[in-house]
Amino acid sequence: MATQTQGAGQPPAAVQKLLRAIPKVDDVLLWFEGATAPAALIKAAVREVLAARREEILAGRLADAAALKREQLLPQIEERLAEKLRPKFRTVINATGVVIHTNLGRSLLPPAAMAPLLAVGTHYANLEFDLATGKRGSRYSLVEELLCELTGAEAALVVNNNAAAVLLVLETLAAGREVIVSRGQLVEIGGSFRIPEVMAKSGAKLVEVGATNRTHLRDYEGAITEATALLLKVHTSNFRMIGFTKEVALADLTALGAARGIPVMEDLGSGSLIDFSRYGLAKEPTVQETIAAGADVVTFSGDKMLGGPQAGLIVGKRAIIDRVKQNPMNRALRIDKFTLAALEAVLRLYFDEEAAVRTIPTLAMLTMPLAAIERRARRLSRRLGKSLADRGTVALVRTSSRVGGGSLPEMELSSCGLAVTPRKMSVNELERRLRAATVPVIGRIENDCLLLDLRTVADDEIAALAATLIEVFGRSGE
Ligand SMILES: *Cc1c(COP(=O)(O)O)cnc(C)c1O
Repeated sequence: MATQTQGAGQPPAAVQKLLRAIPKVDDVLLWFEGATAPAALIKAAVREVLAARREEILAGRLADAAALKREQLLPQIEERLAEKLRPKFRTVINATGVVIHTNLGRSLLPPAAMAPLLAVGTHYANLEFDLATGKRGSRYSLVEELLCELTGAEAALVVNNNAAAVLLVLETLAAGREVIVSRGQLVEIGGSFRIPEVMAKSGAKLVEVGATNRTHLRDYEGAITEATALLLKVHTSNFRMIGFTKEVALADLTALGAARGIPVMEDLGSGSLIDFSRYGLAKEPTVQETIAAGADVVTFSGDKMLGGPQAGLIVGKRAIIDRVKQNPMNRALRIDKFTLAALEAVLRLYFDEEAAVRTIPTLAMLTMPLAAIERRARRLSRRLGKSLADRGTVALVRTSSRVGGGSLPEMELSSCGLAVTPRKMSVNELERRLRAATVPVIGRIENDCLLLDLRTVADDEIAALAATLIEVFGRSGE
């Protein structure tokens, strides 16, 4: 009688029988004799599929022993195996229109960076070897001169990313002492990078001054004590305060710092080497302007508006940069040879601003004329032709792209794209299928359409994008 009270649904005897019908792992492995896939992956795929069936039996969701036959299990295992064999880190088509898309890898490198990357990947290089003296060299010196020439700074250092740069500089200059920051600049960047928390990790004590919306020079002045190590300005790159606001100009802050013998740092975030306002974007301070305004140390990202590899660039006065270089923490935050190779190639392009804007993808996409984006949209539309038939409609639409990466948040870049409306599946299903495609396509859902913004789709991706759309709609009748 106990059998009646145990387990919902299937009586235990039937469950036991089904469980016994699951083939043994070793027996299933025989189905794969001669297969070329790594044995460990085959075994894992077999185990996972068998375990999933076991779960279903125990949950009462599998009641037919036919589901445990080779004809049923083999395709499931093969599919699982194919998934395991496919690279996890893959390229996608960014049709979101967000140029510096942190989740999709931020900046794309220019063609000029490819040969150096390949070369240092396949050959030994003078990473830490001084070719002039034959002695140990410093990896930082390889791009230091370039950074100084481009920014007007006395010295430079590059670390893993800008978050690391900020942490390293704060730890070097202010551990155990005080750093004065305006309340309006205690920003969160995303991915849990918050100025107060980074400050705490560095061992420096945050001294907040001013009000959220207004900070005056006298606020900084009044907060200076014996313990003050640094005046910090954080560029509020990812939000904008409007209305009754006041920030102290960097030049005023550096004058105060100089008078009181306290260094001034600016965390520029997505620091840029060119003035984007010349190309119709909002005015942002360039790194050169920040150095010229007297900042002692400036930090910025390599892969935001600069359009290079992930890196944290630190430029400023020699005495300060020298101290930062000697910090043992520096070793833990150092960049690798690939980053250095790509960064040098990107920096060199900046000596010719016109070439930089044309060939550095982030810059080219940010400054791309609407007519060029529209041409791309028309090309995609032509390629699709009538292939979606009655399964969906495609319309050429005006939209706006975003800079992304927490840069110029309020800036809307006039753009062009295709609005795709599926007829036989939901727009959410379309979005899911595009993500699951061989070359995943990431768009955005807007007004019940899937919007593909062509600003961030390269010319050589149009054919693949069209093919993916056709493939995904082809299966919609199923
Ligand atoms: C983006 C940003 C950072 C962090 O830079 P990462 O390169 O992402 O580490 C720090 N400060 C500011 C102001 C930023 O905008």
